[in-house]
Amino acid sequence: MPLQEHNYWLTTAQFPAAHASHPLPEIVDVAVIGAGFTGLSAARTLAKRGAKVALLESETIGWGASSRNGGMVLTGMKLGVNKLISMYGRELTQRMYAASLATIDCVEQIIRDEAIDCDFSRCGHLEVACKQRHFDDYARQAEVIAREFHHTLRVVPKNELSAEIGSNIYYGGMVDEVSSGLNPARYVAGLARAARKAGAEIFEHTRVERIERDFRQGGAGWRISTSRGALWAHEVFVGTSGYTGRATPALQKKLIPIGSFIITTEILPEKLALELSPRNRMIYDSKNYLYYYRLTPDRRMLFGGRAAFFPETDQTVRQSAAILRRGMIDVYPQLSDAKIDYVWGGTLDFAFDIMPHAGQLDGMYYAVGYAGHGVAMATFQGQKIAELMAGDKPENPFVGIKFPGAPLGLYNGRPWFLPFAGAWYKFLDWVT
Ligand SMILES: Cc1cc2nc3c(=O)[nH]c(=O)nc-3n(C[C@H](O)[C@H](O)[C@H](O)COP(=O)(O)OP(=O)(O)OC[C@H]3O[C@@H](n4cnc5c(N)ncnc54)[C@H](O)[C@@H]3O)c2cc1C
Repeated sequence: MPLQEHNYWLTTAQFPAAHASHPLPEIVDVAVIGAGFTGLSAARTLAKRGAKVALLESETIGWGASSRNGGMVLTGMKLGVNKLISMYGRELTQRMYAASLATIDCVEQIIRDEAIDCDFSRCGHLEVACKQRHFDDYARQAEVIAREFHHTLRVVPKNELSAEIGSNIYYGGMVDEVSSGLNPARYVAGLARAARKAGAEIFEHTRVERIERDFRQGGAGWRISTSRGALWAHEVFVGTSGYTGRATPALQKKLIPIGSFIITTEILPEKLALELSPRNRMIYDSKNYLYYYRLTPDRRMLFGGRAAFFPETDQTVRQSAAILRRGMIDVYPQLSDAKIDYVWGGTLDFAFDIMPHAGQLDGMYYAVGYAGHGVAMATFQGQKIAELMAGDKPENPFVGIKFPGAPLGLYNGRPWFLPFAGAWYKFLDWVT
């Protein structure tokens, strides 16, 4: 088949019909903005607690990163553990690491409770070293993680790596058996069904344009103006991630939207698929400008990376197909003749400190900043912040940590510096 500029996962999932032409309610307890993992997980938890919830989505359910990602449900955070300890100290980092493991249990529990058919599997992840120096660091990282967090990672030397991956360009690897894989489009569609079953109303094609403090309904709350009219909410929860815009300017200024792109091959012969990834791991490499890849449940190679730093446009998506294909063949020369069936892109959100952040800003609740580690963390934060809103005190070490803005405040939400950042990361990969 000819190359399709289309998200392959969407061809495998059925989304629930939502309330497109349904009138907006006048008053709700909570307005949740964004129907991705964060917003849907929050809406489900809040509705289960008896709150009247309106989930407002400018496009369609799962339209953002949540249906477009690699489906890797990963332990840990984007930053390495030594960096985390230097930023937050041992005790807080221990709590963060424990939370990162809890995020995966959280996803698994929801999938089980809601019977979501999304190919969830505890297949583990493999990080592969692009340089000897990176591999040497794995043993140190594994030792710190075992000592500080009581979590076991297995370092795989180069001469044993063929049991994990059918590529000989790497210097070794590190395996975490706890990480998992799933089909993200089926998962987000299932979460939407679960949120609706719990009683949340989902309004697609409803862009939030302005949010203002409003005391008129007999208490402090918010007037929310949308492309389909206004509603009033006691509380607002923002889960707009890389698509955060002018409706929440304070949050927008703290986030950098960064493009990530994916190709998938045609369905591969079983023998070849087994050779490429004998244990069916979620795989990523050790570079800053990294590649991530995996087999899909129907045995395509899904290969992703930051082929362009700018968010997805027709042009960046098209260029990415060629760039990623070259990257994939460098890793797997066996795929030189494999046809590329699909290419697509999506937008991630990075905070300036590359950490997840959640809590309250300008009186509104939010959870953002997943930096490409959002499948598990977004689900978890949606649930935990919803519990906080319902009056619980859930363990959530990411609430209350410093949420820095741009240095000298030199950023208005338009990432003019992305080409420089892209060049800088390529430079770092060359020298480190
Ligand atoms: C190509 C790609 C690959 C990735 N791979 C992985 C991976 O393998 N593993 C992993 O853990 N993470 C991965 N990620 C990251 C992960 O997908 C995200 O962190 C996660 O999906 C974020 O979920 P979310 O619900 O917060 O945001 P999103 O899913 O992006 O949803 C935000 C929603 O908010 C809506 N919205 C924005 N503004 C408004 C408004 N004003 N009014 C109404 N609605 C609005 C948008 O339309 C959008 O649907 C990847 C991301 C991309 C793009």
